[in-house]
Amino acid sequence: MNLSSASAASAHPLAAYGWDEGWAEEFASDADRGLLPGRVVRVDRGQCDVVTPVGLVRADTEFVTPRDPMRVVCTGDWVAVDTNGDPRYARRVLQRRTALVRSTSSQRSEGQVLAANVDHAVICVSLAAELDLGRIERFLALAWESGAQPLVALTKADLVPDVTALSYLVQDVETTAPGVQVLPVSSTTGEGIDVFGAIVSGGTSVLLGVSGAGKSTLANALLGDDVLDVQATREVDGKGRHTTTTRNLLVLPGGGVLIDTPGVRGVGLWDAESGVGQVFAEIEELAEHCRFHDCAHGAEPGCAVLAAIEDGTLPERRLDSYRKLVRENLRIVAKTDARLRAEMLRDWKLKSAQGRAYLTAKRGGSR
Ligand code: ZN
Repeated sequence: MNLSSASAASAHPLAAYGWDEGWAEEFASDADRGLLPGRVVRVDRGQCDVVTPVGLVRADTEFVTPRDPMRVVCTGDWVAVDTNGDPRYARRVLQRRTALVRSTSSQRSEGQVLAANVDHAVICVSLAAELDLGRIERFLALAWESGAQPLVALTKADLVPDVTALSYLVQDVETTAPGVQVLPVSSTTGEGIDVFGAIVSGGTSVLLGVSGAGKSTLANALLGDDVLDVQATREVDGKGRHTTTTRNLLVLPGGGVLIDTPGVRGVGLWDAESGVGQVFAEIEELAEHCRFHDCAHGAEPGCAVLAAIEDGTLPERRLDSYRKLVRENLRIVAKTDARLRAEMLRDWKLKSAQGRAYLTAKRGGSR
């Protein structure tokens, strides 16, 4: 990348939405086809709202809606839009860099992509309630698995005015979240908001957390007073009509992009084996020193994990939590595998039925 192309990328009308050299490169062949790049700010029933260099475009997703729910267009995706035509079509979804996925509650047991191309997965935890470390670990697994960098925001920090008490709480969360920054914030006193704003100004962020975790208050602190203006903008659509649109992807006044979709509340893991491994990095590291490589850390001799619990360097709660999430993940994977097997069997039955019909027809014809 040379300097002139770098400045060309920063001057791009979509730079505020996260457009960079990498996307420009991936989009080059689409540009040759006369398509426009755009970022999806909202998705609903077969259509999506896309910000493009020529403004907000409502595009049909018919061409890019595969049967695989993991590949369905979602907020945060970059797409190549064909703006000539009525309706306008999203022709291609650019390869996602990261994807935040949860398991749906449905019987089909499928993954659902909540947001794409997220850089920071911010786990909001309210200090108004007692810390639930297990829940934080679950969110962390989801965040690591997405490919985004997790960050824990301890909201309502003003409710813990005692500095020593606050530092203990931060430490508790830090030991639960190796490799993750833990930041106390308060939108009442403004504590930590500047630092937080600076972190999220570089890229796309998603706020995760249960309801009451302070996500909206934190989002408002980042968005300032313009929140309604930003979220519901009057746009001119393709036919010159003025319409009011709600966006789930917002450009922050201080830089960066915030994705706020209603679905982000769910926390079911989805095939998060490596995510779980990253949350419990120290346990997986200890396990490498167990005498048996398939050690279950139960009663095996020479178990390094049990030794760490014995000498107090590893809290037993961590191992329990680790086991729980590993089991949960295995259950989901097994369920998915069962579904895939069932689908393969159905396909096979269909094909063999077709084959039999073909053979019957052939025999009938040769008679
Ligand atoms: Zn062991």
